[in-house]
Amino acid sequence: MASFADLELIEPLLRAVRDEKYETPTPIQVAAIPVILQGRDLIGCAQTGTGKTAAFVLPILQRLAAMPRRAGPKACRVLVLTPTRELAAQVSASFTAYGRHSSLRQAVVFGGVGQMPQVQALARGVDILVATPGRLLDLLNQGHVRLDTLEVFVLDEADRMLDMGFIHDVRRVIRVLPKQRQTLFFSATMPSEIVALANQILTNPTKVAVHPVASTAERIEQRVMFVEKANKRPLLLQLLKDPAIDRVLVFTKTKHGANRVAEELSRHGVPADAIHGNKSQTARTRSLERFRSGEGRVLVATDIAARGIDVDGVSHVINYDLPNVPESYVHRIGRTARAGKSGVAISFCDGEERGLLRDIEGLIKTRIPVVSVRPAQSTQPVAVMPVAAKPAAVKPAPAKPAGNPQSRRPQRGRRGPLGVNAGASL
Ligand code: AMP
Repeated sequence: MASFADLELIEPLLRAVRDEKYETPTPIQVAAIPVILQGRDLIGCAQTGTGKTAAFVLPILQRLAAMPRRAGPKACRVLVLTPTRELAAQVSASFTAYGRHSSLRQAVVFGGVGQMPQVQALARGVDILVATPGRLLDLLNQGHVRLDTLEVFVLDEADRMLDMGFIHDVRRVIRVLPKQRQTLFFSATMPSEIVALANQILTNPTKVAVHPVASTAERIEQRVMFVEKANKRPLLLQLLKDPAIDRVLVFTKTKHGANRVAEELSRHGVPADAIHGNKSQTARTRSLERFRSGEGRVLVATDIAARGIDVDGVSHVINYDLPNVPESYVHRIGRTARAGKSGVAISFCDGEERGLLRDIEGLIKTRIPVVSVRPAQSTQPVAVMPVAAKPAAVKPAPAKPAGNPQSRRPQRGRRGPLGVNAGASL
């Protein structure tokens, strides 16, 4: 089995990896790190949870350290584009954590927060810039950032960029990048538009794939509960009485639905936060931190808000509403059973959602075991324990950080010796 030292990482990075308690590199790290260290273009087919962030952050840090150069005013040497603010913050935290024994400057820019601190962070130039496309374009148009001397470009979660309607913004950014650069392209799925984009922007790339897309974790116990729409809230309250539900993500279809569920839970003595696109960045960050730290046990989210969020130790995912797009089910339940732990995914299904359930079962090629809710108790306490004997084990398993049950997302806010976290927006 390969070790990080086998990947010829330099000592400051090996130390940082040891600090994170990573024992062995994950499959995508083994495959991608040598390619990136050689300066080659890469297309990585991998979703969050596979260790893909370290797979590009570590070799990028090594290449920057090997060729020290100051980025000029307003310039950057590396640009990472991510679809969401949360993911930008997480990628930035990874640069901070893995770069803690290196002396590199970085900034992170995204919308929803004041622009001024970001402009100031960029003024003297940075080694690494992590950005969402909209805010980056604003800053480019106002002349606060230049990309003409960029060396490495990373497009993270390209398929989400497409889903979220950012693909045109991404193309606009790409237009101003220098032709001579290294490009790293990551996407969990490869729809035709994404393949076309990859073909346009990559030069002779090495392809690394760690997972078929429609896979769900083998350690996730999946259950479905048939329930009338009006009874979903009492059912959720009843389920949450179970102390085994330690840290739970509840998914709703709409932002209003997320608010309503969180309010109802809080009113009944189960404190819950809602996270969705209408919340301010500060509120989202605060809710996420509460959830991440374990202070908050319940987080109610919409699909978009939950994208890219990596919180370890989520014991349960509850699909309060089934998603319209079956692939979202796979992404949702993948929030539990991370880092070698097991997890439970419970889906509520009302009469109108039967078709959605069929689509999901078709995609994952598995019948999800049904847990019965006794009709006489449908508005009152309900049977909450699974009746199905065996969990729905779905193959193939997603990549998990190899052989390290303690793996975790690097802590945010830790600073490298020279203040790697130059961007003020975390
Ligand atoms: P990612 O796929 O980048 O979202 O990473 C998923 C999780 O795996 C994060 O919490 C990382 O901190 C963790 N991780 C990354 N690489 C390793 C590794 N080699 N061993 C253990 N955990 C890891």
